[in-house]
Amino acid sequence: MEVMSGNFIHTFIDEDIAEGGTYYGKRVHTRFPPEPNGYLHIGHAKAIFVNFGTAQKYNGLCNLRMDDTNPTKEDVEYVDAIKEDISWLGFDWEDRFYYASDYFEQMYGYAVELIEKGLAYVCELSGDRMREYRGDLSTPAKSPYRNRPIEESLDLFKRMRAGEFEDGKMTLRAKIDLASGNFNMRDPVLYRINHMHHHRTGDKWCIYPMYDFAHPIEDVIEGITHSLCTLEFEAHRPLYDWVVDNISATNKPRQIEFARLGINNTVMSKRKLRQLVEEKHVSGWDDPRMPTICGLRRRGYTPAAIRSFTDQIGVSKVNSTVEYGFLEHCLRDDLNENAARAMAVLDPIKLVITNYPEGKTEEFEVENHPNHPEMGTRTVTFSRELYIESTDFMEEPIKKYQRLYPGNEVRIKSAYIVKCTGCEKDADGKVTTVYAEYDPETRGGNTPDGRKVRGTIHWVNAEDCIDAEVRLYDNLFTVPDPDAEEGDFIDYLSPDSLKVLKNCKLERSLKNADNADRFQFMRQGYFCIDNKGSSPERLVFNRAVNLKDSFKKK
Ligand code: ATP
Ligand code: MG
Repeated sequence: MEVMSGNFIHTFIDEDIAEGGTYYGKRVHTRFPPEPNGYLHIGHAKAIFVNFGTAQKYNGLCNLRMDDTNPTKEDVEYVDAIKEDISWLGFDWEDRFYYASDYFEQMYGYAVELIEKGLAYVCELSGDRMREYRGDLSTPAKSPYRNRPIEESLDLFKRMRAGEFEDGKMTLRAKIDLASGNFNMRDPVLYRINHMHHHRTGDKWCIYPMYDFAHPIEDVIEGITHSLCTLEFEAHRPLYDWVVDNISATNKPRQIEFARLGINNTVMSKRKLRQLVEEKHVSGWDDPRMPTICGLRRRGYTPAAIRSFTDQIGVSKVNSTVEYGFLEHCLRDDLNENAARAMAVLDPIKLVITNYPEGKTEEFEVENHPNHPEMGTRTVTFSRELYIESTDFMEEPIKKYQRLYPGNEVRIKSAYIVKCTGCEKDADGKVTTVYAEYDPETRGGNTPDGRKVRGTIHWVNAEDCIDAEVRLYDNLFTVPDPDAEEGDFIDYLSPDSLKVLKNCKLERSLKNADNADRFQFMRQGYFCIDNKGSSPERLVFNRAVNLKDSFKKK
């Protein structure tokens, strides 16, 4: 696998290693900590790449940790899907798969330690009061419970755990600095009461740790050296360090923040993606229009394309939005190199070669990839009746049109040169059949006399082609940033994001296509079998991306 490009995180790690302090001689150890409350999206792919890729680069280790400190109901579905997606991307946590909820007892122990050290206290302010007493830049926060005796806090905290108090009645707060300019340090809440069932610990707990307290402890317990997270945690780092410094831990992980990935014409938060699924605006988390990893996979994206994308967008400290076109560009780059070529007619009309003998069939051996002879060849068959794209014929050609029109010669890709002789129309004037004559001297599509034939069109043999459905996808949203628009982001869903073509004709070799294969349908784009909708009796293909690269390098 490619080695991750250098970035500021690696500079920090290099410095840490060179300094010879805490990190000296230690193997770099990172973690990817998703909350199992939804499917992973392309933003997570960046975080996965940053964590696993950094570990790989330093010959270190990366853990997979379910950050499940919030009590929720069963979500095995999400846990399994997260594992599948990460493996598919090509990363391996080996035997280091953890649940943060497994550390609840240790977290509780550290909380008791802080109380005993006079660094935490039980506070009885309600949520509203706490907000009211939060203060502002010139006024410190306050809590009348701050100086309660250690023994009293210890007793109350024990009773909080025992379930004596109802939700919201009290919290455990760190005793740090009520006047801090960083509001996260104004005696932040470490534990809250929440009588809720947890999917793994059941009803064992009715107090749950806050993220800012739990996360550093999780990192400490797992021996993480570098805790790589997104920028919104930057202002929480002093609290992260405070927790690490004040609990009796020998391991001192360092938090380093990097910019989140945003992509235009889509939404990325799990809450919004879930809404799209639940309100049935899409067919599921793996709808090929979704920016989820499983959606992209179903759409036809490859792990290599996604890894290349996450590497090329780079890692920085500045949030920015990447064009969707760049993700597509990375896929095209991969598939142009690696996808086998094939022919498919998406909107077919008949082409009858009137001077070709009825009942005759010829075979042509064509290469699967123009630049990769090692990808082999396949046989395509040719007979009197073919299907061609309806747009490849015009009875009255527009200017510069070089495809079929009466009197014009065109190359039937890899087969023969044909000359259009006319067409037949139905009662509505719609063309149903195009007629042409072939030149037997041009087998393989060559002109022995050297005459120029401008247009080349793709085709399939009407005799043995396969019927299939093809789904074309476009942006899910009509605006670059649906989150920033007025009103509900749902209002900006594009009505044209899915186009289903039910009457497509594919060359017969595609009958044996594997779900993992990707194809370039000549002149159409890159396609793959839909891993849900397709069956051997009724093939369904998804267009992963079209051929035209709209992405302009800036
Ligand atoms: P969301 O807002 O989409 O629900 P989250 O941050 O709540 O995302 P988590 O499951 O907590 O989702 O995320 C796991 C890890 O992935 C975190 O370390 C988080 O920083 C990172 N991550 C999430 N979204 C992005 C993104 N858009 N770009 C980069 N990293 C991300
Ligand atoms: Mg989250």
